[in-house]
Amino acid sequence: MTVTYKHEPFTDFSKNENIQAIKEALVFVNSHLNKEYPLIIGGERITTSEKITSVNPANKAEVVGVVSKATKELAEKAMEQALEAFETWKLRKPEARAAILIRAAAILRRRKHEFSAYLIKEAGKPWSEADADTAEAIDFLEYYARQMLKLKDGVPVQSREGEQNSFSYIPLGVGIVISPFNFPLAIMAGTAAAAIVAGNTILLKPANSTPVVAAKFAELLLEAGLPAGVLNYIPGSGAEVGDYLVDHPKTRFISFTGSREVGCRIYERAAKVHSGQKWLKRVIAEMGGKDTVAVDKDADLDLAASAIVASAFGFSGQKCSAGSRAVVHQDVYDEVLEKAVALTKELTVGNPEDAGSCMGPVIDQNSYNKIMSYIEIGKVEGRLMTGGEGDDTDGFFIQPTIFADIGEKDRLMQEEIFGPVAAFCKAKDFNHILEIANNTDYGLTGALISNNRDHIERAKEEFHVGNLYFNRGCTGAIVGYQPFGGFNMSGTDSKAGGPDYLLLHMQAKTTSETF
Ligand code: GLU
Repeated sequence: MTVTYKHEPFTDFSKNENIQAIKEALVFVNSHLNKEYPLIIGGERITTSEKITSVNPANKAEVVGVVSKATKELAEKAMEQALEAFETWKLRKPEARAAILIRAAAILRRRKHEFSAYLIKEAGKPWSEADADTAEAIDFLEYYARQMLKLKDGVPVQSREGEQNSFSYIPLGVGIVISPFNFPLAIMAGTAAAAIVAGNTILLKPANSTPVVAAKFAELLLEAGLPAGVLNYIPGSGAEVGDYLVDHPKTRFISFTGSREVGCRIYERAAKVHSGQKWLKRVIAEMGGKDTVAVDKDADLDLAASAIVASAFGFSGQKCSAGSRAVVHQDVYDEVLEKAVALTKELTVGNPEDAGSCMGPVIDQNSYNKIMSYIEIGKVEGRLMTGGEGDDTDGFFIQPTIFADIGEKDRLMQEEIFGPVAAFCKAKDFNHILEIANNTDYGLTGALISNNRDHIERAKEEFHVGNLYFNRGCTGAIVGYQPFGGFNMSGTDSKAGGPDYLLLHMQAKTTSETF
């Protein structure tokens, strides 16, 4: 392990050797479609009769894999295994736990393109987005391993004459990790790895649209030496398995990434103390966003347009960090809008397996329907400038869509769409820009494009988001460089990939000996 953490570089797909490598990985994955994936409970592979079928969102007819589906009984079994494994795992030296993450990172790095190819197939990610997802998973493993080494001896406290005090961190217990479809490798691996390296054991319930890549990762961790029962892989229904485990008296914490609706439901259920429960459950929730790219009067307008387009349409807008609203000063509004529309028209929507596709499909029929219904709302609330069309014949494709002249309180400016739809809103002056930027229930990311130093300094104080960027887009936080997580209804103010993230999975213990 190198001493200092450095983020994993992205693959340069202009190079022939890299193009060949990803194509070969896609050939490999294409020859491994439709396979069965069992649950993993206490190291045992368990096949159930009920299944989750993972389909390629770019081609509904293609089955990526068929995954066993946990029931309540199997969730209970997994809980028992996790409780048992916790008794030994919590005693394992932090260095030994960290070494498993480092080894997992090394294996993942060697098999990088294979995992990216699964992301292309299962999540519909274009090459570069899939590659970034895999790189981020490697980063989380490397970063949290090192963070654990920093925390292992606790923090020094004072001792008076004749006493010896110490302050250190111990794990919590069994955690439920519920991960999303949009970073099916990075966020799944990151939330799992943080919990595990801190000494907890987990039940991993990945998103039902992307369970195959999670199964691959669970196997990889076992190969890296993770003892049986530390990570239990149990895809299943949220209403059945999710609720059962959130309510379970032995659940110590829940690490959730997903929608605001489900996050609030988990938060509420977790607050209830059940019979046999002897702690208050901790919830780490990373929920939605309605993120703004703001453009000042004095700004590089080409940069503004490209930041808006990249932030709105990267992975078809299916990021909670997506810049789904552009708030632009009235003096430059028409020009920025025109430039952004022109750039958007250049984007190609197509099968993400093909090198040329800038945007793939959205994840499933429900998302498709929801996004298309927002497009109808947009037609009433504003002016359709480009896009507005979808095609779900073979896969769930939606054209990148821009609406102009949306009112600051309109639904397109307030509600998370999680699709390739951007709303433009005109602001009178810089005060108005800030007012609109802060007028949602969320507070995840935001960007200001400006050459005005005073405005940049004001935004630092007044633009209330967890990740604030200047003169760039509002997506693409890098582990260890831009710790990621937001305010208000965006979650519990946790910062993934940041120096205090592991502490959310631990509790502090003070010891004091008198001599
Ligand atoms: N961390 C990602 C970013 O900075 C977004 C994660 C998410 O959408 O959940 O763009």
